[in-house]
Amino acid sequence: MAIKKKVAISPAHYGITKIDNPIDGIWSETESNLLFALFLTRELEEADIKTFFMGYGTYKERKLFANAKKVNLYISIHTDAIDSDAIVAYRSGDESSYKIASYIVQTLRKLDYPIPIKIVERKTERADRDNLSGLHVPGIIIMPYSIKKHISLFRREAYKMSSMWAYAIAKYYYSSLKKQINRRIL
Ligand SMILES: [Zn+2]
Repeated sequence: MAIKKKVAISPAHYGITKIDNPIDGIWSETESNLLFALFLTRELEEADIKTFFMGYGTYKERKLFANAKKVNLYISIHTDAIDSDAIVAYRSGDESSYKIASYIVQTLRKLDYPIPIKIVERKTERADRDNLSGLHVPGIIIMPYSIKKHISLFRREAYKMSSMWAYAIAKYYYSSLKKQINRRIL
């Protein structure tokens, strides 16, 4: 039995910064990140990936933990209240993270992910001070949707959208995935 791949999932802002960006008095980016992170964690577990849910600690502590556990991938989740499509970002010069990021983007496009998605290079240290800098393992920032632009879509399709991300991430590591996860997407 092969050793399971390990992924750390950090819902950004949750437990740390008070960025609320309330959309309709109920939703905020913080809660939206948390919900997506929980769905993604569950879906990745079903795809045989060991997950570490980073819903605690400072960003620095989360990254130190991920380094210590030597995770295969660290994911920082944002769903910013901006007019933007979906995003996968990586640190400039970090080739292994770029490879994962571009695989995920291509796979989501193939799955007809309901939001246009692009890959973004974070060029400066400052840009990812809170998210990725200090990581010694591959790491990406994902924005699966914008809480401002796509919240109604996410409300309807949350399960399917998170399944697609989990599928794209897990497929990078395992060529054959459990039929279960496929069924939810297709
Ligand atoms: Zn954010």
